[in-house]
Amino acid sequence: MSRFHLTGVVRCAYCKNFNMTKTGTFPDIRERSRAAFLGVAVGDALGAGLEFMTPGEIRSKHGTVREIIGGGWLRLKPGQITDDTEMSLCIARAIDKAGGWSLQEIAESFAGWLKTKPIDVGDTCRRGIRNYLLKGVLETPYNQWDAGNGACMRMLPAAIHSLGSDDLLEKYAREQARLTHNHPLSDAACIALGRLVHLAVMGCSKTRLRREVENLLSRHENFRFEPYRGLASAYVVDTMQTVFHFFFKTRDFEQCLVATVNQGGDADTTGAIAGMLAGAYYGMEGIPKRWLKKMDKRLLTEIDALTDRLVSLSPLMAETTGLAR
Ligand code: MN
Ligand code: MN
Repeated sequence: MSRFHLTGVVRCAYCKNFNMTKTGTFPDIRERSRAAFLGVAVGDALGAGLEFMTPGEIRSKHGTVREIIGGGWLRLKPGQITDDTEMSLCIARAIDKAGGWSLQEIAESFAGWLKTKPIDVGDTCRRGIRNYLLKGVLETPYNQWDAGNGACMRMLPAAIHSLGSDDLLEKYAREQARLTHNHPLSDAACIALGRLVHLAVMGCSKTRLRREVENLLSRHENFRFEPYRGLASAYVVDTMQTVFHFFFKTRDFEQCLVATVNQGGDADTTGAIAGMLAGAYYGMEGIPKRWLKKMDKRLLTEIDALTDRLVSLSPLMAETTGLAR
């Protein structure tokens, strides 16, 4: 049952307008899911050395950064990843361990990670995880300052695990987000990003993805990214504007990531999110081999295995296995 087409399923769940440009076979879906997760890690590693720099500072110090060079304020080794990838791994490992969605298991996984004294942790994330450790809170209360990008950057596992169900995507997106961030703009960005990943992984066109962004803009004008204001801060609105701008403006994975991280600011996180989306859209062949070579082999192997597990546990898989007769 490895290579039959899913067009019927794709049509009803995602592409109501038959707007497919690529194939929707199982191997393709798994491959694009893997590319999306690897995209998070590669984008994180590429951008991490440029975090908090302005585009001008990057230009005068490095020219245009096209390689994974490490460095930056965290003095990273080339290929080293940060919280963006690590928190995504926490969620994926928790789903793997529980054999399905378990918010408690995810919170435990975050808590275990915080105890390892990670090289970088966002303040909002740290506060949320501490609240869980001290009070067992699985939903942090609303806070006007929680509109950072910390929930968005770790959306990939929730998106892959909910393939085939928009309702579950919304639930998982919101639940994982609110472990640390409780703000309508963070929620909206997480859900929209998850939908874009769904569409891209299923093989939809950029026109279809663009329409999904319009849905977000119709509800939250703030995310409007044309004309692009050039802000790439950790404010989720700035982050998503940057990702949208460069994803829709460029034509391949490498161009998209290079343009995104050279915008500086929260470059590891804009890089991770751009890598997620561009990975889901362009697939494995889009990711430069020379970038993958810079990454830790065990990390790449674990990402592959976890992604396969997330796809297998998704409703899409249950649904289509049922249809396979
Ligand atoms: Mn980071
Ligand atoms: Mn960051």
